[in-house]
Amino acid sequence: ALAATMTACGSSQKTVDAEASASSAAGSAGALIGVTMPTKSSERWIHDGDNVKSALEKLGYKVDLQYAENDIPTQANQIENQITKGAKLLIIASIDGTAITSQLQQAADNKIPVIAYDRLIRNSPNVDYYATFDNFKVGVQQATSLLKGLGVEEGKKGPFNVELFGGSPDDNNATFFWNGAMSVLQPKIDDGTIVVKSKQTDFKQAAILRWDPATAQKRMEDILTSTYGNAKVDGVLSPYDGLSIGILSALKSSGYGTSGQPYPIVTGQDAELASVKSIIADEQYSTIFKDTRKLAEQTVKMADAVLKGGQPEVNNTKDYDNGNKVVPSFLLDPVIVDKSNYKEIIVGGNYYTEDQLQ
Ligand code: BGC
Repeated sequence: ALAATMTACGSSQKTVDAEASASSAAGSAGALIGVTMPTKSSERWIHDGDNVKSALEKLGYKVDLQYAENDIPTQANQIENQITKGAKLLIIASIDGTAITSQLQQAADNKIPVIAYDRLIRNSPNVDYYATFDNFKVGVQQATSLLKGLGVEEGKKGPFNVELFGGSPDDNNATFFWNGAMSVLQPKIDDGTIVVKSKQTDFKQAAILRWDPATAQKRMEDILTSTYGNAKVDGVLSPYDGLSIGILSALKSSGYGTSGQPYPIVTGQDAELASVKSIIADEQYSTIFKDTRKLAEQTVKMADAVLKGGQPEVNNTKDYDNGNKVVPSFLLDPVIVDKSNYKEIIVGGNYYTEDQLQ
């Protein structure tokens, strides 16, 4: 049943009927699985946690699900506790991808397999599999959507003033998003279509630690004050809806968001409820929809296969080098969502109802 609803990017689907095989697998039946998620401060992780938990429970597993409110030692403790409680497998969406090596060593010493969820865990040999979205493609899509919003796709030449934001430097995904986006934007910066007036074009200058919306808001305010004067911002590359909200509110304080001075084109990621509403209200321009239901399903299929001694399905064995080894990965496909297609993708896909978006 799980396999039937899966669609995945460019892979031939092996159909594993997880429910059927669960009942026949003696060793793993009822095993405890430890699931650690970074924070409840962003909706997406709440959905991820709920979806992973319920899919595992449907297969008969017990689940210990923990959130760490973006605090690294808390997450490390949660993982240690799960090992102590006898977890047979760990699913981890890390806060800092380099900060849990000793916990992973402990897991390996206890022969507990580890699946990195959404974010790659770095600098450790003790990561068995990785389930995520095509993170480079997310960045490509953010930049593509930004250019579309600016009108570059239909031939407008600019120059457009664009400011760039990056994600948390300790999250491996952040550099993938950035590199994907810059693969599209750098040529436009080089040919003068796009001007980064603040001159802050390095990832280090653009990165927002822990994906914190208030930090993004402050950075946008500082850039507006120091660089813009009478000039106008035409676009902002934002890698995550939470940051986009901070950025939009800095812009609003500076007089944007009126009929005389509409908001610039601002991107995002995760299709969080407030941001889809903001897109409908012509504030945020676009987001990247990553169907967390599919990520949860794929991860649970992986976990189930590993626990039964099988080979989980992967579709990428080259792109995710964690500094120690290339981690076999399953990548799902992200989708650009803007005002033109949210009904089809978000409402049509039953991610939110029309009512929720009112
Ligand atoms: C996830 C994004 C999310 C970001 C902030 C990243 O690792 O891939 O979906 O926007 O973290 O939570």
